[in-house]
Amino acid sequence: MHGNQPDNQAVASNCGAAPHCGSYYAATINKTLSFPSLQGERRADVCVIGAGFTGVSTALTLVERGYKVVLLEQHRVGWGASGRNGGQLIAGFTGQEKLQKLHGQEAAQLISHLAYRGHEIIAERVEKYHIDCDLSYGYIDVASKRRQYRELKEWLGELVQHGLGDEVELVSPERISDVLGTHAYVGGLISMRNGHLHPLNLCLGEADAAAAQGVEIYEGSPVLDIQHGDTPVVTTADGRVSADFVVLAGNAYQRLERPRLGKLLFPATTYIVATEPLGEELARRLNPSDLAVCDMNDIPDYFRLSADGRLLFGGLCNFTAREPRSIQAALRRRLLAVYPQLEDTRIDYAWGGKIGIVVNRIPLIGRASKNVFYSLGYCGHGVNTSHMAGEIMAEAVAGTFERMDVFDKARHVRLPLGGKLGGHLLALGMLYYRLRDLR
Ligand SMILES: Cc1cc2nc3c(=O)[nH]c(=O)nc-3n(C[C@H](O)[C@H](O)[C@H](O)COP(=O)(O)OP(=O)(O)OC[C@H]3O[C@@H](n4cnc5c(N)ncnc54)[C@H](O)[C@@H]3O)c2cc1C
Repeated sequence: MHGNQPDNQAVASNCGAAPHCGSYYAATINKTLSFPSLQGERRADVCVIGAGFTGVSTALTLVERGYKVVLLEQHRVGWGASGRNGGQLIAGFTGQEKLQKLHGQEAAQLISHLAYRGHEIIAERVEKYHIDCDLSYGYIDVASKRRQYRELKEWLGELVQHGLGDEVELVSPERISDVLGTHAYVGGLISMRNGHLHPLNLCLGEADAAAAQGVEIYEGSPVLDIQHGDTPVVTTADGRVSADFVVLAGNAYQRLERPRLGKLLFPATTYIVATEPLGEELARRLNPSDLAVCDMNDIPDYFRLSADGRLLFGGLCNFTAREPRSIQAALRRRLLAVYPQLEDTRIDYAWGGKIGIVVNRIPLIGRASKNVFYSLGYCGHGVNTSHMAGEIMAEAVAGTFERMDVFDKARHVRLPLGGKLGGHLLALGMLYYRLRDLR
């Protein structure tokens, strides 16, 4: 293991403080950014809280549109889920079908456009700001069971009906082992519009672009309170920002606006390991088309190759504060079930990060008051969604709510318990899904 850290301790100790956690991504940062902490009083058009994809993307969209923005981060830019995730760029958002049903045919086009909006924004920014983040296209949903393969075929039928058949390719049970070098799956559906990237380098690249255009970024500046009013005031230990608007983008790491969000949003931890570089030949045998891979279980395993040929393998979902004794051991078993040929391959990095879970899985995108907006809870599917959300936040600041309302009008399930006890309730629910995955 790198840095002599036992895997789960790397999460507990490294991630509690200012530095990025001991991930493969942190070890391969290509841009070191550093920003001061907030001291004293600032005035802005918009104060954004949280510098993950949602916050950075919101800030960048706003500054491109001429707003004066202050961005406050309790640790470092990209410290949260955005700097630690699987890097899988997957279209759509969780709860999409429910929103489709809620809003009916009228909103169908708007919702299907939203599903790919994050992809478009990322591609535009990578090009415009020359962000080096290993962006690569190609992704496959894989079926572990016949039932799931039938679902993929039905899904393909729907895509064809909507004129999207050209974007995908069904992989038959006979062919899947050629595509992925494993007999663990019975089929798959490839999409060349989805893909994968180095999330921390993307987040840092976007923050750099935002700062270059005048966004004031403050790190090491946890927000303690938001005072609502005509000009809301955001308070940190050593400073205050008054702004016309506030955007809350703290996802599973934040505890602000508890009465409104506390029993709606629950943190869960998911984990990733990165092997040593596999070498060109082995990497090509395992994944010749360099696809990002995600299985179809309710608690999925997901994996891909990094730019330097490591296997990045993620999975598990933990609602309690208790970490597994060894992330490496817990994930290694799952990795070897897919690729037994990696029995002797070393694991170099192991880490975890928090995702925000919403009971009905519809992202929490809406208003806490007339000038305080929030966007969080993408249920582990946020690389694309967070970028779409950044644009929705910027629109709301400008007084346009059409796309925000697609989400804000959804009825959410408020659990009777918040915090740890609510997490335990959800853990019971997840146990049900885990058992269902075994069918
Ligand atoms: C291990 C893992 C794997 C994942 N894999 C994928 C994947 O492959 N594909 C995919 O689409 N999604 C994936 N996700 C989900 C995705 O990473 C998230 O949905 C997305 O990054 C959320 O972005 P965000 O900016 O909303 O939140 P975050 O990135 O968590 O950022 C929130 C930020 O707010 C800061 N903050 C919180 N409270 C305060 C406060 N009071 N004051 C100041 N700052 C504060 C935090 O420090 C943090 O930096 C994964 C997540 C994890 C953890």
